[in-house]
This record gives sequence, structure tokens and C-alpha cells, in this order.
Amino acid sequence: MSVETSASAYRSIVHERGQREVFCGLTGIIWLHRKIQDAFFLIVGSRTCAHLMQSAAGVMIFAEPRFATAIIDERDLAGLADANDELDRVVTTLIARRPDIRLLFLVGSCPSEVIKLDLSRAAARLDGQLSPGVRVLNYSGSGIETTFTQGEDACLAAIVPEMGTAPTDEAALLIVGTLSESVEDQFRRIFDAIGVGTVAFLPPRRAADIPSVGHGTRFLLAQPFLAETARVLEARGAKRLAAPFPLGIEGTTGWLRAAAEAYDVPAAVFEDAIAAPRRRAETALAAHRAQLSGRSIFFFPDSQLEIPLARFCHNELGMTPVEIGTPYLHREHLAEELALLPPGMRITEGQHVEHQLDRCRAARPDIAVCGLGLANPLEAEGVTTKWSIELVFTPIQGFDQAGDLAGLFARPLARRDRLGV
Ligand code: SF4
Repeated sequence: MSVETSASAYRSIVHERGQREVFCGLTGIIWLHRKIQDAFFLIVGSRTCAHLMQSAAGVMIFAEPRFATAIIDERDLAGLADANDELDRVVTTLIARRPDIRLLFLVGSCPSEVIKLDLSRAAARLDGQLSPGVRVLNYSGSGIETTFTQGEDACLAAIVPEMGTAPTDEAALLIVGTLSESVEDQFRRIFDAIGVGTVAFLPPRRAADIPSVGHGTRFLLAQPFLAETARVLEARGAKRLAAPFPLGIEGTTGWLRAAAEAYDVPAAVFEDAIAAPRRRAETALAAHRAQLSGRSIFFFPDSQLEIPLARFCHNELGMTPVEIGTPYLHREHLAEELALLPPGMRITEGQHVEHQLDRCRAARPDIAVCGLGLANPLEAEGVTTKWSIELVFTPIQGFDQAGDLAGLFARPLARRDRLGV
């Protein structure tokens, strides 16, 4: 079933409802555990959840994993064992074996929700026993009706109550959303050069560095899938700075400019601070534009990054987005992105996977960005694909990554061209 509305003032958006092909929020642990270096993610789930994490993380992790699954087995499901006692035993053993853990997340799953295991009470109980050495928080990664990036949103929203209260006159800038350390360092240098004052990042690299928040805090979203985190930060008095997302030259410039304007930085100082990295990005993009210009691209709804990516592909690489699918469209957070897209783009919100596959087959795009579940069947049909999850855990934000981001689209096409398929 689909229905077309004029939900935006400047373009129509097609809403689709039907079968969806998405991963659940557990997947976010893959990049979150690499960012918060003294955190541990304990999934309270089934063997299916453990298997998903193993197979998804198996091709993606490069460091000692800091996550595990406490398996809910048949006895728990049948109500024959006290799952809370089991959980306490697993956590006690884990903390004894891993004294480096400072922040423990109990991550809920479909099975833990089915047996109505109250992980917020379990986290409060364990936190009472283990803090201040180890803080215990919880969030849900279950995924029948969610997308995989909502796991990060739920995780960051769970950290917000742990943030201290900043004085009202403390006008710190908070960057919200997981960025790789190298990207974070680059942005910190640019913010220093612009002169916006104190800058903090959520999530932090270590549990002890959880930033404060207050009525003077302004925040920039670094990722477009953080609706709940933004909501709870606003409830703490923080103000979101409206901006496009820092993908490509255009998005990064707009994102940094939103901070510069909020902190009354003179335009000349801002332009001077971004001039050198911007030039580097222009040089890096030029090489890819020659290969990508005029190519068509089809976005299946998966990561919620689709609209900023389509804007980058069209405006900076000269590509033609045939369809821009997104699982959810947060009209307020995406307003600046939508304004940068030219009129006439086909945007779909939600998914009816069969109908969408039919449209993709009919369009024969040069490349399709999709979830892992659709990639193999599409490749078998001769459609070149790019995994959307790769665009979430690869550093792609900022000027110095603009060339790498273009390269992620260029490489599969170059390979296909070489094979002559
Ligand atoms: S969808 Fe549910 S059952 Fe499947 S891996 Fe995710 S949390 Fe586990």
C-alpha cells in the first residue's frame, strides 16, 4: 500500500507500507563499542541475536570486541528460571573478569521483550551494586519495527540522564552522534580555529568524559538518525542548531557555519578557518566526479543517511538519484537537507520491498545503496550495490573524508566496469 502526500512544502513524498528488509538496532553496537572505549554491551537475547552480531561484526570489527550475548534459553522462555538471577550472575562474572569496564549497557532484544524482562529495573539494581566503579545503563536494540541506526539513538538517549547539569551561562557546543576519532579530532581543530569555545562530543571516548548539558548548551547533530536523543537533550534545555549533515563539502560547510553563526563568529574568520580543508576536499572530489557524473543511483531505505547521501551524490558528484528511500523522515532535522535537494526528486518513506525492487529493476540504476539482505540478490541480477551499513561505520564526515565518501560509490562501479558486466 502506498500513499502520496505533500508533506513538505517543496516536494512530495511517497509513503510506503509493506514488508521491510532491515537489520535491528543491535547492529549499532559494532561502531558504538569501538567509540566508547571502556564500555561493554551485554545483549540480553537469543542465539539468533548472538548469531546476528557474530556474522555482522565478523566482517567489520578490527579490535578486541567489547560485547557479548547473555542467552535467554528455553527454560527462561518457559518461565522455569528466574532470568534476573541469571543476569545478575552473568554480570558479576563479567565485571570480575573485565576490570577495565566502566560503563555497562544491558541491551534489550526481541526475546527479552517477549518474556517481559524489565531491563531498566535490572540496570538500576546492578548499578546500585556496582557504581561508582561501573555504571549500568540499558536500552533496547530489538528490531521488528525499527532500523539498525535506531540502536545508536536509543543508546545515546540512555546516556543523557547521566549527563551532569551545566550552568545556564555555560554556552558549550555539543556534537551529537558517533564520529570516528580521526574525524572528531579534525572537527575539534576546525572549531578551535573558528573560535566557538568549549566543544564536547556525545558519545564520549570514555565513561568519565560524559559531558554536561544545560540551558546554555547548543548541539549539532552529526547523524540524521538521532530523533530521540535530540528530544531528551532538548528536554534538558539544550538547543539544536539547524544544519545540513557534515557529508561532502556543501554539508560540512553548512554544518560548521551553523555553529559559527550561533557563536557570532565573523564570516571572514569562518571562511579563513575552512579554506585549506575545503580546498583539499575539492581536489579529492574532482578525481571521482569525472567517473561518477551522470551515473544513476537508487537508495533503498535502511540507514536514514539516504537523504544527505543523495544530496551529496547529486550536488557534488553530478549523479542522478532515481529514488531516495528512507525508513523515516524527520522533517525538522532534515529540513536543511531537503532544501538542498533539487525539486522533482522521488523520495519514499517506509518500505514495500517487493514494489521497490520492481522499481529498481525497471530503472536499472548504475548503483543501488541497500542493506546486506538485498545486496546479493541485486548483484545476482546485475545491479551494482553498496552496503548502506558500510556508510555508517566508515569515517565519511568532514572535508578530509569527502574524497573517501565519493570513493565508496566509485569503487564498486570501477570494479563492475573492469569486469565488463
Ligand atoms: S531482530 Fe530481534 S531476535 Fe533478531 S537479532 Fe535483532 S533483537 Fe535479536
